[in-house]
Amino acid sequence: MTGQATHSTLSRTVLLSVRGLAKSFGGVQAVRGVDFEVGAGELLALIGPNGAGKSTCFNMINGQIRPDQGSIRLGNPDHSKELVGLTPRKVWRLGVGRTFQIAAVFGSMSVIENVQMALLSHARELHEFWRPARAQHRAQALELLDAVGLADQATLPVATLAYGQVKAVELAVALANQPRLLLMDEPTAGMAPAERVALMALTRRLVTERGTSVLFTEHSMDVVFAFADRVVVLARGEVIAQGSVTAVRQDPRVREAYFGSGRLT
Ligand code: ADP
Ligand code: MG
Repeated sequence: MTGQATHSTLSRTVLLSVRGLAKSFGGVQAVRGVDFEVGAGELLALIGPNGAGKSTCFNMINGQIRPDQGSIRLGNPDHSKELVGLTPRKVWRLGVGRTFQIAAVFGSMSVIENVQMALLSHARELHEFWRPARAQHRAQALELLDAVGLADQATLPVATLAYGQVKAVELAVALANQPRLLLMDEPTAGMAPAERVALMALTRRLVTERGTSVLFTEHSMDVVFAFADRVVVLARGEVIAQGSVTAVRQDPRVREAYFGSGRLT
């Protein structure tokens, strides 16, 4: 970083930098010219009406969809890597994890087995074949389950858990891979309001403790405003506003996009 940097640029270390991202499906321009950054350790909400292009952005970042244009760089600007063109597996290996909108854990396996499996696959990716994996992964898995408040449920089959608990297992599985950036596309879909708040509070606590960055989408504005550090607003494939919760909440363009000219409460 040069001596020209101001306080505002120094206050946030960039982890992910998205520039000029664009993607069309046939005639539909799903994402057009999207720019934003995710800071290290930041909980960033990507919001916008249905069809705004949020999931398409997620899928371009995780390597599932190749953008028509643009760049997605992981790491600080002095030492970053281009993600565009990499396979989802390579992107994951570089430390971009994700949770799934539909719970993706294995229902017949126990809670701890799910987390152990994630730890094992992470170790394999790092070519640590020689490690006496089992015992160590069990201790680590228990630690993670303790962190998500599920230590007492460790030996239960996932299928017997309440939905909110399944989502917590999913979070533990994602964290087992020690991501630098965690992508969460509608993590609280299908949850009751109290469960939503609990899951995001848990996410907030874990990522703060670990210094993980999170990019998430969420429909409930209450949840977004309570937990996000910063908000990026998409509408019809374009960023129409970004900034602090307070700034975005008062932005007339955001109110317009959501409710005509209504209020964003
Ligand atoms: P969001 O997640 O914000 O609701 P999406 O990224 O899913 O929005 O979709 C953005 C736009 O792109 C929508 O108009 C959607 O219909 C379209 N779209 C998304 N994925 C595809 C696809 N695989 N094929 C065709 N159109 C798609
Ligand atoms: Mg979506």
